[in-house]
Amino acid sequence: MIFGGLQKSSLIDYPGKISCIIFMAGCNFHCPYCHNPELAGGQLPQPIPEEKFFNFLAGRKGLLDGVVITGGEPSLSPELAGICEKIKQMGYLIKLDTNGSQPLILKQLINNGLLDYVALDIKTDPAAYVPILAKKHTPADLLNTIKIIMESAPAYEFRTTCFKPLINESILKIILNIIDGAKLYVLQQLQFEKMLNQSLMNRKDLRYSFDQLYWFKKISEQFVQKCTVR
Ligand code: SF4
Repeated sequence: MIFGGLQKSSLIDYPGKISCIIFMAGCNFHCPYCHNPELAGGQLPQPIPEEKFFNFLAGRKGLLDGVVITGGEPSLSPELAGICEKIKQMGYLIKLDTNGSQPLILKQLINNGLLDYVALDIKTDPAAYVPILAKKHTPADLLNTIKIIMESAPAYEFRTTCFKPLINESILKIILNIIDGAKLYVLQQLQFEKMLNQSLMNRKDLRYSFDQLYWFKKISEQFVQKCTVR
């Protein structure tokens, strides 16, 4: 069995904790600004065998607190639950990054005590994912995922990459009404290092300034417990 690459992860990826990050390939979305286009397309740039990964973890007990599982979309992988079980058996915390399209899998992972932190991307109005972000998308799945996270995840963040065609003040308010009362909402500035749609690289007109993001933060704070700009 093969994982994606293994990298050090910053404290930002797992607040207050030191973690490593593993990538799982494949995604059911095609976000134009995706900065992991190879992974989203199913390629593993630096594949490593499962055994090597778990040997790595075994050698870092006491040095690492947790593992960030990201992608691609990890919840599409049938191996995800088994990987989480093994990581938990070794005593590590787990943070999962997800696009929210697989609520039942997420619910099972949370109910089985396999996740400590969930980061969910909410990319725009749930009703507007098709066709820009995905060929197929069921808004109810995302809404269900949000509900599951708010009701049962041990800790979580919702986050939105502020990409101009997909986010504006009225769309933000649609999202905020859905996540009303959430513990943490993160507004992320669009990054240009790598993008799935290369024709958008350096299209600065698609990116909100930090001043604009702080205006969104002010609006968001009327709905959520805490909002940060990243
Ligand atoms: S940003 Fe996330 S959800 Fe979107 S294509 Fe990339 S991996 Fe998939």
